[in-house]
Amino acid sequence: MDFGIIGDILFPPACVACGAGVGNGVICGPCAAGIVRYGTLFCGTCMARLPMNRKICHADAPYLLGAAGPYDDAALAALIHALKFQGIAAAAGPLADILADYVAGRLRLDLAGAIATPLPLSPKRERSRGFNQSALIARRFAATLGLPFEEHLLKRAIHRKPQSETMDILERRENVRGCFAADEAHARKISGANVILVDDVVTSGTTFTEAAKALKAAGAKKIFALAAAKA
Ligand SMILES: [Zn+2]
Ligand SMILES: [Zn+2]
Repeated sequence: MDFGIIGDILFPPACVACGAGVGNGVICGPCAAGIVRYGTLFCGTCMARLPMNRKICHADAPYLLGAAGPYDDAALAALIHALKFQGIAAAAGPLADILADYVAGRLRLDLAGAIATPLPLSPKRERSRGFNQSALIARRFAATLGLPFEEHLLKRAIHRKPQSETMDILERRENVRGCFAADEAHARKISGANVILVDDVVTSGTTFTEAAKALKAAGAKKIFALAAAKA
């Protein structure tokens, strides 16, 4: 086994966004600092920005949506791409830090006591990728903010096609309908709890909506859905 190659995968020798040398980091300082950050939450139904973090358009939205920055930010997209498609697990670190800065530094959101949990991958996809990228982000995000973390509040019921950029919103909704269930082993934790769902990218919000439904059905109170980037 060539440990040099393993080392390069854990910590790429160059910034994933610009290629500059970064020692044992993943992204260089200037690229990380230049990532565009949002300063509001979004409506979980129509994705409108919510000034003062209040529901103003759809009071019945199943969750408040948070996204740290836009997916068309090249450096943010490069981190996500490195994590999901290049097997660079260490890219979860800066993504979690960006998300924590957004929540605590910009929104000043008090999430004390809320349980952070990732959107689960299908077991098949998790095996092929080697990890659940959202779980890596959620774990570090929770540790940074001192929040409880539980990796398996939800389970994936069926293996579906991944949500793809070519799908319209109806196809996305159909593709994920009923695909999550609360894990029975954690039923007592979910009942009455506030839950923070974490994913890498939010596009239409349909995946978060299905996950939120499963948590609500299991008795969760407030649900925050947080993504590192919003497409
Ligand atoms: Zn860079
Ligand atoms: Zn709305």
